[in-house]
Amino acid sequence: MNEIYVEKFGGASVNSAQAIKNVSTILLSENKNRLIVISAMGKTTNNLETILNYFYDHSKIDYDTLELSKNYHQNIIDNLFPSGDLHLKNFLDLTYTEIVNKLLISNHKPYDMVYDMIVSYGELIGTTIISKYFESINLKHHLIYANEIICTNNSFRRAKVLWKETKENIINNIEPLFYDSNLVITQGFIGGTENNEITTLGREGSDFSAAVFAYCLDAKNVTIWKDVSGLLNADPKYFENTHKFEQVPYSEAIELAYYGASIIHPKTIKPLENKSIPLFIKSFLSPKEEGTRIDCCSCTKPLMPSYIFKDNQTLLSIFPKDFSFIVEENISNIFALFAKYGIKINLMQNSAISYSVCFDTIQDNLLQKLIEELSPTYSIKYNNYLRLITIRRYTEEAISDLIKDQEIIIEQRSRLTAQFLVKL
Ligand code: ASP
Ligand code: MG
Repeated sequence: MNEIYVEKFGGASVNSAQAIKNVSTILLSENKNRLIVISAMGKTTNNLETILNYFYDHSKIDYDTLELSKNYHQNIIDNLFPSGDLHLKNFLDLTYTEIVNKLLISNHKPYDMVYDMIVSYGELIGTTIISKYFESINLKHHLIYANEIICTNNSFRRAKVLWKETKENIINNIEPLFYDSNLVITQGFIGGTENNEITTLGREGSDFSAAVFAYCLDAKNVTIWKDVSGLLNADPKYFENTHKFEQVPYSEAIELAYYGASIIHPKTIKPLENKSIPLFIKSFLSPKEEGTRIDCCSCTKPLMPSYIFKDNQTLLSIFPKDFSFIVEENISNIFALFAKYGIKINLMQNSAISYSVCFDTIQDNLLQKLIEELSPTYSIKYNNYLRLITIRRYTEEAISDLIKDQEIIIEQRSRLTAQFLVKL
């Protein structure tokens, strides 16, 4: 079997007819065996989330957003197929009707399960359109459904991959496809349970999907196509001068992703590191440029400081009502609650009589439920609209430049990482 390359195209790389044509140009520019993992087009995932949440809050369909999302896809189809494509038009009609019907009969099912049922349509619609377009330009390929291949448990919205079953599926069902074509396309983000329920791997999870396929296929390497030139030391949204890393070791990339560098999903690196599969981050706007290579290199030059901002943070402070100390037992109960609500803790700090946790702001009703469960034993205070600043490989200069005028709520430093939770 010739080597297989895994490439991931995110939402921004397929957000218009032009962008999809650009993907085909990238694919046609080099002849090699590729499995490509594709996300939902543009802002589709957000729109589907909006439709779902509206239904949960109002028991009504948000037809405005539904039409917006449908027209968005129809517009892409019209631009890809100027003389029309009846099959895709019917497919779109049918799919959006299906979304409405699934919501209407979802009443008694848990939110997270319905979330996966609805939000996964983004990837399914996108890959269907792209596959049809590839067909029309004679780009030979196989379209496969990731929910039939990536086996997961039934932790909806944050499903865990069952590696053994997934690997078997990939070896049995995907490898043979490369005998008569050098392109396989599939969806990122989604998986399926043994009972054929659809699951998702967490927001921005398509990067991780690519890593799962690469691991199981022993891929030669993985490329994540982005709208930036590689892994930068800061987000150009916040910083004027950014530096692109040429090569970064896996260990450092894991840390940067963990602290919130939004360029790669944190779970992506580990499977690749375990098999020493290099990961490239490249720009789909200038595909000939080098990008960043993440591998097992040990950097000869020290890496420069990286700056990571995470906005929309909530700080929840928990105080035992009886003024007893916070001990292991309290912490273990509190952790269990956070795990139950699927809240990932970004920073924590404890003192004798208080325990503070910082996490991405959650929906208000979820926060109220969490507080309700804590309140028999603890009094609670919380703060929203905070920013968590992480400086990886900090210098005193880097800190003072960035932090000087900020109102700091929590500050923590380790040898390589300084974190500041600040008010905006
Ligand atoms: N479409 C999903 C999201 O926007 C998954 C992904 O893009 O990685 O979160
Ligand atoms: Mg996306």
